[in-house]
Parts: sequence; structure tokens; C-alpha cells
Amino acid sequence: MSQPIQYYSTNHQSEKVSFREALLRGQAPDRGLYMPERIPQLSKEQIAAFSSMQYHEIAYTVISQFVQDEIPADDLKALLKAAYNFDVPLENVYGRNYLMRLDQGPTASFKDFAARMMGQVMQYFLRQENRKMLILTATSGDTGSAMASAFYGLDNINVVILYPETEVTDRQRKQMTTLHNNISVISLDGKFDDCQALVKKAFADSDLDYLGLSSANSINIGRLLPQSVYYFYAFSRLAKGIDDEIIFSVPSGNFGDLMGGIIAKHMGLPVKKFVISTNANDEVPVYFHSGNYKTIVPSKNCISSAMNVGHPSNMARIIDLYGGEMDEKGNILKKPDFDRLTKEMYAVSISDAETENTIKRIYDSHKVLLEPHGSVGWTGLQHFYADNIDVDSHEQLAVSLETAHPAKFPNEINEILDIDPVLPPSLSNLEGKEEIMTPLNNDYAKFKEYLMANFK
Ligand SMILES: *Cc1c(COP(=O)(O)O)cnc(C)c1O
Repeated sequence: MSQPIQYYSTNHQSEKVSFREALLRGQAPDRGLYMPERIPQLSKEQIAAFSSMQYHEIAYTVISQFVQDEIPADDLKALLKAAYNFDVPLENVYGRNYLMRLDQGPTASFKDFAARMMGQVMQYFLRQENRKMLILTATSGDTGSAMASAFYGLDNINVVILYPETEVTDRQRKQMTTLHNNISVISLDGKFDDCQALVKKAFADSDLDYLGLSSANSINIGRLLPQSVYYFYAFSRLAKGIDDEIIFSVPSGNFGDLMGGIIAKHMGLPVKKFVISTNANDEVPVYFHSGNYKTIVPSKNCISSAMNVGHPSNMARIIDLYGGEMDEKGNILKKPDFDRLTKEMYAVSISDAETENTIKRIYDSHKVLLEPHGSVGWTGLQHFYADNIDVDSHEQLAVSLETAHPAKFPNEINEILDIDPVLPPSLSNLEGKEEIMTPLNNDYAKFKEYLMANFK
């Protein structure tokens, strides 16, 4: 095996660490994000072989490149097989345009893909050292429920989830607040960005070192790697051969999902273009068009609520991968290769009105049911075609990611289509269960007090 891959911080102040340390720490001490010092390459033959492999086998081939011998092959295989025991449907809409439904996991959003692997791998490492950990995670709805489900009952890990009081749906909230035991939930009188800011502050606070804090947000490298696997999977099932090229449209908030795709491309997956689809929080599309990056504070409330992010934490990673440097506040300290960035990606912002129109239009014309995030992705792809008439929208292979199950957004769907999406089993047993959460003001001192009082 080649030299083990080390993980460096995008702020370049902290030491390089192993995969294990990067995963357990979450964020680097200098507040940067961990990145692998090199992206391992898969050969054309390896990628071509995926067409006859199951999802968890593809996951092993991809993820083992980064983990190397930090987890023995048989252990990693078993862990991935247990984590990925659900379907990944690819639904044809027209021509060679597909939806990839990443909503068949236990909490019905794509966040399950990352959460399930992370929980298992963290537990694996912590057990070896007989070490305990407290995970802090900010959520706009889906991360919290995915983490809660994946970490529930793990004996070395406690989880504290912060969600913005008014920005998650009833169903999303119940997925977090009805579990109890090692899962604690804070309802914050603030926005998602406020939740994220409190979590980041706690990490930087040495008074809390004794808690063994880590993060399960997409700042954690362990969140990203599993999210590169389904890009390979989609290609393996839909491409005409290894020389085919694929477009992905990724509805984006914190850009962790997209970052997984970018890693897949840099490993060798023949991606022709990433369409970055955002809601009205358009700081990244504006950056792509103007070269000026300006965070949106406060972020705007859109119906694709899991993407109401005014400064995506993974921007620092994207800028880094393209040769630049961005600090955690969003200042670009060194310019990336902007030509390459904008050549490989196309960014577009979709309004709520368009998001709703698409849900209606695609249901009426194709009987395909989208929820708001998937609709942003699909609409973005259509914008890309409209702007690039040289690309044949029927012949081109394209996959738009549907990141949550429509039944997670029953009110929106009902208002637009006048139907009630059928609940998947994972969402149907929440009613009537006791909810426990702690309401807190958006005040770091109060949050710190809560942590110190509840976790010793
Ligand atoms: C989290 C989330 C997104 C955004 O993903 P990022 O990795 O933050 O860009 C999109 N859709 C849904 C349903 C989500 O839960």
C-alpha cells in the first residue's frame, strides 16, 4: 500500500493528522477543515468494474482508499454492509435524465448515507481506546434526525443536536426529540447559522476540552467521504461505458453533498459538469458570476429549508481543492483557479416560486413526485440546459439528486399538489411518542452552561 494519507487543515496552522484523528476531531484546532493531502485515484478499470458490484462493495472500494489500513479490510467491509442495507433508486424522467432518490434510509434523507457510516466508524475507534465523546451538531432538520438515528444507543457517544426553533418541520423535529437516552436536543431561538456558530464557538472554547467534543456536521471529513460513493454508483448503473460522461445536479446548502461529488470526480469519475443548485441563498452563484464572495447574513428563509445557508462551511474546502484559501469567515485569502472552478461547475439560484412550479409541472407531466430540495436540483439542471444549447438534453446522461423523501414535507406538497405523500415506514411511527427538548436563547453563555451542567 502507498504512504498513508494524512489530513491537513484548510487554515494550514494545525498539524496533519491521520484519518482516525480527523474523524474524531471533526474540525481542526485552527478552525480549518480537514482535507486529504492527496486524492487517491481509481483507474478506469476499477470504475468500470463497479457496474457489477453492489452499493456497499462500491462503498468499500472508494472509502478504503482514504482509510487505508486504519481499519482492517474485513471490519470495514462488514461495517459498510451493515450501514448500506437500503435501496438507491434511479428514476428515469425523460431522455437520459434521472433522479437519484437518496431518501430510502432510516430517516428518509441523504444525510443517512454519511451518518450511518460515521456512527459505526466512530464507535469502532472509540471502543479500541475505551474513550468517550460528545458530538455537537447543528441541524436545519435532516442532519439532526440522521445523526440521532445513526448514533442512538451507541455506548461511547453522547449527541447534542441544536435546531432553529422555527425552521424545521414537525416531522423532522419528532425524528430527533422522540429518541432520548444518549440523544439530547436543543431548540434554539435563532437561525441555522446561529446554531452552527454556537457549535463552532464551543469547539474553540478550551473550558470544554474535557468533554471530548466532536462534530457531525459536514465539516467532518467522515461526512464527506461516504457522500462520494453514490456518484460512482449512479454512473455505474447508467453509463453506456467508461467513456460516457455524466452531469450531476446537486441541491446545495452547506455544500457537503457537492463536495462528495467533487471528490469522486477528482478520483477519476468522468463528470462533465456539476450543476450547483441553491435556493435564494445565492452567495455561491453570485461568486461564480462575479468573482466576489459575500456571505448572506441572516440567511433567507426558503421552502427548501435544509439549504437556508448564508455561508456554506464546505466553501473553504472547495476553494482549497482548487488551489485557493478561504478562512472560516468567508474571506478569500488566496484566489483559487477560478477558470477551472467555473469550467467544472455551473451555479444557479432558484426562487421558491420556481421551486413550487417545478414540483407541479413535473408531477403533472411525468407523474414524478419531488420535494422542495429535489425540485431546486431538477430546476437547476433545466437552467443549465437552457444556458448550454450545445448540450443535447435528451442524449446527455444527467442525474439530479433528490435529497429527501417528499413525505418529510407534507404541508408544502399538499399545498402545491393537493395530495398527501405516502409515508415511508421510517416516518410513520413518530406520532404519539413523547418529545423531549431544551429551549435555549441564542446566547453562547447559556449554551455553555447547559453543556457543563449536563455532561461531566
Ligand atoms: C442537508 C440537505 C441538503 C443540503 O446538503 P448540503 O450538503 O448541506 O449542501 C439538501 N437537501 C436536503 C433534504 C438536506 O437535508
